[in-house]
Amino acid sequence: MTLNKVADGVSRVTGGVVNWYVVLDRGKATLVDAGVPGDWKLLLETLTSLGLSLGDIDCVLLTHAHSDHTGFAEQVRSEAGATVRVHTADETAARTGKGGKNEGGTGAYLKMLLRAEAYRTLFGLMRRHGLSIVPITAVTVFSDGEILDVPGRPRVLHVPGHTAGSCALHFEDRSVLCTGDSLVTHDPFTGSNGPRVMPSIANIDTAEAVRSLDHLTLARAEVLLPGHGDPWKQGVAAAVSAARSASAA
Ligand SMILES: [Zn+2]
Ligand SMILES: [Zn+2]
Repeated sequence: MTLNKVADGVSRVTGGVVNWYVVLDRGKATLVDAGVPGDWKLLLETLTSLGLSLGDIDCVLLTHAHSDHTGFAEQVRSEAGATVRVHTADETAARTGKGGKNEGGTGAYLKMLLRAEAYRTLFGLMRRHGLSIVPITAVTVFSDGEILDVPGRPRVLHVPGHTAGSCALHFEDRSVLCTGDSLVTHDPFTGSNGPRVMPSIANIDTAEAVRSLDHLTLARAEVLLPGHGDPWKQGVAAAVSAARSASAA
């Protein structure tokens, strides 16, 4: 298991393919994303090492409704009584398991399969059953600008483009911005590292994803915690400018 403290009261957990985060606030936890369904065991181990039990999870905030981020959300909801929340525009995908079509289409998807990193990613996801969304029976929605009354009290920044309802979550008092897949530091398809938007094959609208980077700069945070890749500790402005350069290249 890989569990590391990445900011005050914030731990990063990864089973290899995707990151999710535990934010602690007075003994209660907010989970940012829920990995893939096979990460359930990782969740139980994580709670033990943090001295928590399932009942200490207050909520799961989904940065977006993709299967590598919604993983065990339904199980946490039904077994821990946690609330699952997602942006309005991704609510249907979270509840039904049916996502929007991305720019890649089927042909590009097959091309992607030929790339080694993509193959490894898919293999990792398949082993952990991450390829289709487990429908979440009850979902509460949030919208842009809202400050959520949950442990850590994050503010929602709606940053569409990867999906229609992609959001970043700003934990202001920890100087932490969870970016989901709106800005990542590792492209799981090509293996490239450094701040960037996801490749167009994985987005509903890449141009919009690049435009959304502007919105991220509203958050003052030292540490960016992406859905894929290592934490970035040099602030939002530098990450966004690096991501813009990478998308222009
Ligand atoms: Zn995604
Ligand atoms: Zn992802």
